[in-house]
Amino acid sequence: MPQTQEIIKSLEKIKSEYSAGADRAKSAAELADWKARYLGKKGELAAIMSSLGGLSVDDKKIAGRLANEIKTAVEEIYEKSIRSIHESEYIARLGAVSDLTLPSVGVPRGRTHPLSDTMEEISSIFVSLGFAVADGPEIEDDYHNFAALNFPDSHPAKEMQDTFYVSSEGAEKLLRTHTSPVQIRSMKGGTPPFKFIAPGRVYRHEAVDATHSYVFHQVEGFCVDKKTNLADLKTVLETFIEKFFGKKSSVRFRPSYFPFTEPSVEVDVECLVCSGAGCKACKNSGFIELLGAGMIHPNVLSNCGLDPNVWQGYAFGIGVERFAMQKYGVDDMRLFYKNEMRFLRQF
Ligand SMILES: [Zn+2]
Repeated sequence: MPQTQEIIKSLEKIKSEYSAGADRAKSAAELADWKARYLGKKGELAAIMSSLGGLSVDDKKIAGRLANEIKTAVEEIYEKSIRSIHESEYIARLGAVSDLTLPSVGVPRGRTHPLSDTMEEISSIFVSLGFAVADGPEIEDDYHNFAALNFPDSHPAKEMQDTFYVSSEGAEKLLRTHTSPVQIRSMKGGTPPFKFIAPGRVYRHEAVDATHSYVFHQVEGFCVDKKTNLADLKTVLETFIEKFFGKKSSVRFRPSYFPFTEPSVEVDVECLVCSGAGCKACKNSGFIELLGAGMIHPNVLSNCGLDPNVWQGYAFGIGVERFAMQKYGVDDMRLFYKNEMRFLRQF
């Protein structure tokens, strides 16, 4: 019995002491020494365990349980302490080599593409003029891309050399050749008055050169109301040009032809380089051709279920690339698509 008491006393003593020793250990080596003192082959716990032989079964159980408790606790403390020692050592090492006041090496920063910026800018100007933004699919059908927009079946734009046709099961599909199908979809799906822009990507089977590409961007705009006319269109476009180029510039309408507008006009803007005096940029004409527009053809309104005797509207189509080229003085459209970093970094 006295032997049992002694053993339990020793175990209780270890229990009261061990945690303080772990707190004092300041390095991994010191912590390992501390652990070995209790759990090592020649440690205190091993010594006590080897003396349990003479005890009764019940006493062995009591002492064994206490010894196990100590063993588990010491191991847990060791794991926790070694982690925090490693962390402190790591932070100390970092502190020795890092100077937080040094300028950083810098992470290369991405930016939006100039065409995306231009399209975004065009859109936000029209939104400020009360236009809502509409969207439509890039893969269209003949009806929305041509027929509903008053293209006769024999129109040359429908020829294979101008349009990319997409073979699919069932109806023939095509890559939209302009953003005007959004007009049809928006008018058919809503009730007038309408005031929308439709920014997006369009496709044409064109040879690529400095001013043409088989994929480019348009912002279509249209307004349908009971009373709206070419004068409204002119005011809207003049306001837009002034906001976009940051310079007042007069707008000139020239008669033109598009199947979906009547009358149709080409919109010229007084040359922003020479203010109309004549220069290389405007080929000495004083004006630059910038976009096409007109009053929405009565047939288009009828196709969308609107009575052309009640409703009228204007529409315009802005070529995003052309506007970006004018604004930034870029003379070759292909530069926008080359992903040449030296070019893109200028914007
Ligand atoms: Zn000029």
